[in-house]
Amino acid sequence: MAEGDSIVRMARLIESAFDGREVEAATAPSPRSPLRAATGRLVGRRLLGTETRGKHLLLNFDSDLTLHAHMGMVGGWYAYRPGQRWRRPRRSAWLILDLDGQDAGRLELVEFGGPTLRLVRPVELGRDSRLALLGPDILGGPESVAAAASKVGAAGPVALGEALLNQRLVCGIGNIFKSEACFEAGLDPWRPVESFDRAEIETVLAVAATQMERGVETGRRPGRVYRKGGRPCPACRNPVRSRGQGDDNRTTYWCPVCQV
Ligand SMILES: [Zn+2]
Repeated sequence: MAEGDSIVRMARLIESAFDGREVEAATAPSPRSPLRAATGRLVGRRLLGTETRGKHLLLNFDSDLTLHAHMGMVGGWYAYRPGQRWRRPRRSAWLILDLDGQDAGRLELVEFGGPTLRLVRPVELGRDSRLALLGPDILGGPESVAAAASKVGAAGPVALGEALLNQRLVCGIGNIFKSEACFEAGLDPWRPVESFDRAEIETVLAVAATQMERGVETGRRPGRVYRKGGRPCPACRNPVRSRGQGDDNRTTYWCPVCQV
């Protein structure tokens, strides 16, 4: 599942795959790919850099062209050398960028699925309401986390677990870190935000940021309560509970004894 930590890791993968290479060919094998008619625009381009904004990934190419991707629950980027085994079938790829490495060798950079994959001019990005409405990035450093605490703290009667998933309050946190951060901070994800004091809100966001920064560096995520419904809590041995939360009914995992 693509949360902010995995988006940053994908951005790093993409930058290291390019490493001075340019796009020699671009194809979109899947009939579901939104780029079917647009891949030609990528040929000959060099990557200037990547940006991450919460769960959104931007690939900035030369000549004012940006590839905007949101991976959702199922999307992802991979880089393959010739002959390497692919994790998913080639025919289901939404985008294959053939990168000419000359001495460094050829690489295929591949994207599969997700709610958003589109080529835009930077000026169009500025008008994208999904990006414009994003709250502070949980992986944006201490000032960004403090700004997020102000927004989450002002969310009023909304349950903490719902507020942490609201990308307009803080962006980058997904369902895994929602549950894991509330557990580590010892806070009940069902309590309304307005019932916590500011220090508690700051703590749960700082915990999420630390967990996710660790995820960026190691590729690992804490697995103390997420998908552990009915199993003993790692702290008190009482059963971990799970229940759908919010409009999207995303499952929250928590220990009703440790989290108050
Ligand atoms: Zn417990």
